[in-house]
Parts: sequence; C-alpha cells; structure tokens
Amino acid sequence: MEQRLGRVRVVLVGTTHPGNIGSAARAMKAMGVTDLVLVAPERFPHADATALASGADDLLARARVVDDLAAAVSDCVWVIGTSARLRTHSVPVLGPDVAAEQVLTHASEGPVALVFGREHSGLTNTELDHCNAFVQIPTVADFSSLNLAGSVQVMAYALRMAALAGESIEPAAEPEGARDPLATQAEMEGLFSHLEQALTTIEVLDPENPRHLMRRLRHLYMRAGLSASEVRMLRGILTHTERGR
Ligand code: SAH
Repeated sequence: MEQRLGRVRVVLVGTTHPGNIGSAARAMKAMGVTDLVLVAPERFPHADATALASGADDLLARARVVDDLAAAVSDCVWVIGTSARLRTHSVPVLGPDVAAEQVLTHASEGPVALVFGREHSGLTNTELDHCNAFVQIPTVADFSSLNLAGSVQVMAYALRMAALAGESIEPAAEPEGARDPLATQAEMEGLFSHLEQALTTIEVLDPENPRHLMRRLRHLYMRAGLSASEVRMLRGILTHTERGR
C-alpha cells in the first residue's frame, strides 16, 4: 500500500502562505503520501512552513521547487486538478473517492499527481488544461472554498482509504508488458504542439486566434487517457497531414 501511495505526487501551485505548505506536508505524511512538489511558492523555505509541518519536515526537505506546472507534471501519466468551483469544462469532475481510486489505479503505470491552487485565486485556466480530470470536494453551495491544507488533508485521506480498500483485492494477474502504457504529460505536450503546427499548416487553425480550438482539442485528448503508442500513431498521421499526402 505504501508503495502505491508513494507514487502519488501532491503539487501546490503558487502558495502564498508558507504555513499552508507545512500543514499540507503534515496532512500528507500522516496518510502515507510523501512526494511534494511546489510550483513557484511565494516564500519557501520558511520558518512557518517548518513550524506547521510539526514533524513532517522531512517531506519539506525533500520537496522539489519548480517554475511552472508543466515542469511539475511532465513525467506524470495522470493529473487531477482540484478546485472549489469549476466552471463549465469538458473534462470530468469527480468526487474525492472516485478521484482517489482513479489516481491509485493509474499509479501502477507511472507517477500521478494531484494539483492544488493558490489560496486566493485557485488554478488558472491554462493550469487546468494540464489535467486529465478534476476533483471538487462537496461542500454547501454558498461556501465552497476550503483552506488549501484542509483540501490536501481530505484528498490524502481519500487516497489512504482507497489504498486500504484495494489491499484486500488481489490484483488481476497481467503478463509483463501486456498493457500499453499511458502517455506522460511531456508526450501529451509534444502531441499538442505537433497538432497546433499541423492545423496551422493546413489552415484549419486561425493563427491569429488558435486558442479556442486548441483548448477544446486538448480537453478531448486529455480526458481520453491516451497511451504512448496512441500518441505516436496520432503524430504519425499529423506528419502525413502536414506533407499533404
Ligand atoms: N477562490 C479560489 C479558492 C482557492 S482555495 C477558487 O475559487 O479556486 C485554494 C485551493 O484549495 C484550491 O485551488 C483547491 O486546490 C483547494 N480547494 C479548496 N476548496 C476546494 C474544494 N471544495 N474542492 C476541491 N479543492 C478545493
């Protein structure tokens, strides 16, 4: 169980209060989730982070700091974004239990990530575009925003519960290499650039305003959960499309 939980990465984006980073680390450690990545935190390392980690400072010491979300999840095969309020979006919105189960299932194929936003403004639309699915912790309708570390606690608990439930179930024996592995986010980004380039070449994409179509195509491919070989197949088609035969 600890091994599967060990493959789940918690990504905190643009955290303002270092105390929240410490509280998140504490929430994670108690549940056996240990991989923490910080995207451009405002202040870190910081005494408040260490104080609120209250014994989980080993997680803080191992935490990696990166510049943007793409760098935090490039090796991940599945990324779930969290949000207090989700605008209409074409990617599925899950509850914590279903999301936790999905994350653990994909954890057998490679690193997986749960992404948390800024205290005041959450995640940007561009950051949400990196996600295969979203999770919204159910709340009362008119007070939906939880404290950042509180949200990390809820999701880390859901992961532990899902891992405990899965322990008693014998995984189906699968021959080595039988499954086509999921594409990493870096491979997905390669597909999206190639797609944008090919669609511009064949003049499907308006170079002045490529955003709308590209975003819709991103969501379509992100929720599909493409394997690495499916990405190669699509890119092969794009190469031929660009050549015009
Ligand atoms: N005003 C911001 C609130 C951010 S709260 C917004 O509307 O997005 C800080 C972070 O805590 C969020 O980005 C999200 O990662 C997490 N969070 C807070 N409440 C949540 C909820 N109900 N469900 C899922 N995540 C939540």
